[in-house]
Amino acid sequence: MTNVTIDSAPPASPSREELRRRLTNGPFDLLIIGGGVTGAGIALDAASRGLTTALIEKDDFAYGTSSRSTKLIHGGLRYLAQLDFKLVREVGRERAILHRNAPHLVVPESMLLPITKGGAYGKLMTAVGLSLYDFLARVRKADRRRMLSKQETLTKEPLLDPDRLRGGGLYAEYRTDDARLTLALALAAIRSGATALNYVKADQFVITDDCVRGVMARDMLDGSTFEILAKHTVNATGPWVDALRSLTGPLRGKRLHLTKGVHVVLSYEKLPVRQSIYFDVPDGRMIFAIPADDVTYVGTTDTTYLGDPDKPGILPEDTTYLLDAVNAFFPSITLSESDVISGWAGLRPLIHKEGRSPSDLSRKDEIFLEPNGLISIAGGKLTGYRKMAQRVVDLVVSREPNRTFEPCRTEGLRLAGGRFEDAEDVRHFIGEVQGRLRNLGLTESRATSLVHRYGRDCEAILDCCITEADEPIQDTFLRAEVRFAVEQEMVQRAADFFVRRTGKLHFDPEGMRRTQPLVLDELQSLLSWSDERKAEESKTLDDLLRQATGR
Ligand code: FAD
Repeated sequence: MTNVTIDSAPPASPSREELRRRLTNGPFDLLIIGGGVTGAGIALDAASRGLTTALIEKDDFAYGTSSRSTKLIHGGLRYLAQLDFKLVREVGRERAILHRNAPHLVVPESMLLPITKGGAYGKLMTAVGLSLYDFLARVRKADRRRMLSKQETLTKEPLLDPDRLRGGGLYAEYRTDDARLTLALALAAIRSGATALNYVKADQFVITDDCVRGVMARDMLDGSTFEILAKHTVNATGPWVDALRSLTGPLRGKRLHLTKGVHVVLSYEKLPVRQSIYFDVPDGRMIFAIPADDVTYVGTTDTTYLGDPDKPGILPEDTTYLLDAVNAFFPSITLSESDVISGWAGLRPLIHKEGRSPSDLSRKDEIFLEPNGLISIAGGKLTGYRKMAQRVVDLVVSREPNRTFEPCRTEGLRLAGGRFEDAEDVRHFIGEVQGRLRNLGLTESRATSLVHRYGRDCEAILDCCITEADEPIQDTFLRAEVRFAVEQEMVQRAADFFVRRTGKLHFDPEGMRRTQPLVLDELQSLLSWSDERKAEESKTLDDLLRQATGR
């Protein structure tokens, strides 16, 4: 196994100006378009093998699908149902690697699969299936599946319907924060030498002698345009992959089929599940209910999407589908639309197959090659990003037969904030953070979410919390968090902070409303915004809150 290096403090991030300057200093060996998990993963793999690497993202890192998933690092139970044993083995192994490289961000989550009369899985099938899953995914002995009697299942989850329940299976999954995972990859790529920048859009390809040699890019913050040159260009734009491919001519061969997945967030009191559950919907699909701090989120839908990839919205029928599913499965729960705190919609960039319904389309990733040299990659899952990256970089390297690069190293690379020995080390650190919060007069219970969010880097935020007599300590802490987000995590817009760095838009919209003025003040001062810019940012936040909460 590859050795892991554990550095002690986050190195300072280069400034936006410096990164912008570097982008014009090509040609790079590799330019990656799209700062979702796929693009960020490719950037880390390439930079750590010694390729000069650039990554650009038209909005914020993880703006697309990579902040709108179910936030699970799956072992691929659904692939087992499709008898794709190779994929189950691969994603199972990837889960373990991710947990090791970011134990604060990829945390074990036991999942309950209730077995019900008329449900998708019977007792025998669940027992055999979950055992096979443990075997293929090489699940550690302590985490292997446990079959439960009806009574044991009800004790685990008293909200289940005793009349329909026949038993249950408990199995191992992992939970993550998808946007922060993507950011951690982008930051790790920068620390490995890549030049990665958000708010830079690829407008057109630069083509010389029928070969793609980079892009004409636009800085989305100041509108300026500039050229980024590269020997190889990868299009990792998820739902936008076909739009980019078609910039060089009509689409040939395979194309994408976008399907929309919606999640709704409810207050924990309205759906007080004791742990994550994967349960049956009357139409034969399965969905998740996942408790997270003060809320439970439920998802997802799966419907063909033909609209603008920048604007997937939540339709009333999406919400109704999810609420009806919960109401049908848990007899004591009666949810209505007014119980929904917020929600999000994401697009799966799947590969089209004639005659297949959205739920039957393969989740496997595929690479498309154009005669002009452009490499595009789509499909796949958060969970498999590392292997996807490896395949793409192997391909790029194979196009450079006269040069030698190091082999793929990402199996042993810690992600930003992940300087821990193991999960036990994370638990120990949470204890230390509790002590520091107590000393500052802040609630200790924040320690777990703080460590899951920032890993060891939360020390840098706590170090900045110098108590000032004229301000409540919560405000001092929030200012320190905003400063860290700007100085270390490339925040450029207020939405970056509320949506993708802290997840407040979806998980605590009231907290977001309350703290919006202070955060905007702090951002104005740190980023030298004019009053007009601040007003624009404020309006964007109001629009986002309206879209997410319906209020
Ligand atoms: P994206 O994250 O969409 O990234 C593409 C990026 O390209 C975007 O940020 C976009 O702004 C940028 N871009 C577009 N055009 C340009 C341009 N011209 N110039 C520069 N940048 C550009 N997987 C799991 O493993 N576990 C789960 O629990 C899970 N749940 C899911 C639930 C739902 C509802 C959905 C939709 C997906 C889920 N997935 C899950 C799958 C996973 O989220 C996706 O496979 C993954 O996030 C796709 O990442 P990506 O980087 O390919 O695309």
